Amino acid sequence: MLKRRVDLAAFCFHVGNMSKVSPISAGLAERCPTCGQGRVFRGYLKFKPACEACGQDFTKADTADGPAFFVGFIVLILFAPFGFIIPMADQPMWWKLLMMFGLVFVTIVASLVMLPKAKSLLMALQIANKAEQARFEDR
Ligand SMILES: [Zn+2]
Repeated sequence: MLKRRVDLAAFCFHVGNMSKVSPISAGLAERCPTCGQGRVFRGYLKFKPACEACGQDFTKADTADGPAFFVGFIVLILFAPFGFIIPMADQPMWWKLLMMFGLVFVTIVASLVMLPKAKSLLMALQIANKAEQARFEDR
């Protein structure tokens, strides 16, 4: 009975501390996942050390190469088929070359636009889910 009461208290503590801001919408808007107000970047991909509105520490989250992986994967799925379709088109060579250069340009622009969003989203999800480096328990 005592064990059940402790678990319920832990559950209420967890629910009471849940963020009111959706980490997905805050991440895609490049805003703080805790308050939804402060911006997370001080440059193109450089995180600020903390939220200017609520003081949330952004140095805890480390997205590493996750955003680049996901953006590369999405861009590959969206644009790689055109890399096979364009050369097979029954069009003059200059048209195919122009389309391939256009495909390269669109792929690069899409990657550069999506990368900050993906990085902010992963950081927001890490903070919202309290994700951290795995380690052994201290005994
Ligand atoms: Zn904040």
